Amino acid sequence: MRFLNEKLQALTPYTPGEQSQETIIKLNTNENPYPPSPAVLKAAATAAKQLNRYSDPECLSLVQALAKHYQVAPSQVFVGNGSDDVLSLLFEGFMEKGVSYPEITYGFYQVYQELYQLSGQKIPLNNALQIQLTDYQAQEGTVIFANPNAPTGLGISPVEIVAFAKKNPHRLIIVDEAYGDFGTVSVVPYLKEASNLLVVGTFSKSRQLAGLRIGFALGDPSIIADLNTLKFSHNPYSVNQVAIACGTASLEDDAYVRQTTQQLITTREVTTRALEKLNFKVIPSQANFLFVTHENMDANALFQWLKTQRIFVRWFDHPQIQQYLRISIGTDEEMAQLVSACKQYMEANGL
Ligand SMILES: *Cc1c(COP(=O)(O)O)cnc(C)c1O
Repeated sequence: MRFLNEKLQALTPYTPGEQSQETIIKLNTNENPYPPSPAVLKAAATAAKQLNRYSDPECLSLVQALAKHYQVAPSQVFVGNGSDDVLSLLFEGFMEKGVSYPEITYGFYQVYQELYQLSGQKIPLNNALQIQLTDYQAQEGTVIFANPNAPTGLGISPVEIVAFAKKNPHRLIIVDEAYGDFGTVSVVPYLKEASNLLVVGTFSKSRQLAGLRIGFALGDPSIIADLNTLKFSHNPYSVNQVAIACGTASLEDDAYVRQTTQQLITTREVTTRALEKLNFKVIPSQANFLFVTHENMDANALFQWLKTQRIFVRWFDHPQIQQYLRISIGTDEEMAQLVSACKQYMEANGL
């Protein structure tokens, strides 16, 4: 006897990149290879002393720090338990007229669409694997896309996004800036020009806190208030005490994040050149990962072989991108090992 609601029995859940207990070179989930700053670790230790208390349901210190960082009002800031939690609330509560998103993008959009049984449309990327907002003009309902997009690493300009939002004032336009610190220009400064624009962000990538679960949304106070109504109808304490303290400390020690982000961008460019020397085609990335293909190599075969060398990257089973691998940017040393493993594979296969 299966007790799960019949409507939910066909759900396909999200497939996360593998986590491993063994020592591997982990370049498969776009985590940050660097630990959080000492100031963040200190904040964690202090907050842990208060774990007998519930966390602040308003997340006030974190909301204020985010407002200051992004130069918006605190009433324009929502905080959730990872951006996946924020996205879940958005799909649950803001998409009754349907949702459009890129056919190739972050896998969770489709999972939430199915979970909340929403009508939706997947819009193909163009031949250069880019999002074209003009292709989203014909539908109604909410639009959501990642900028830069994943797994391609390609972004579009905020000017283009704002123009699209202004042209569609009755549709909510959600921009997922999970990788926004790695090279794209944020649309946040343009929020005042379009009240139907909402930006979602995360502390999991540039801020080194994937394991803590902090996500946020920035936008018009009315949207933020509605998000809070939903949050307080699910779980007012969804953001825990340690997360609030560490998130705040991370924003206060922004110099550390800027420095490690700059290091990752440098590593990304060095790795790009090294892979290009091996005749890989590397899409110019604006994120903390590379999306690469090689005309003489089957991507899945290389993916499998790298795994035997304890190097984990990501391969996606979709016809338009099945000859590509997504490789997260790790430390210089990890990337050097990846490049040398690719070289070794090519030599062994006479390529
Ligand atoms: C990683 C990622 C997220 C999820 O971030 P969390 O805050 O860890 O839940 C959301 N959107 C995109 C595009 C991502 O790559």
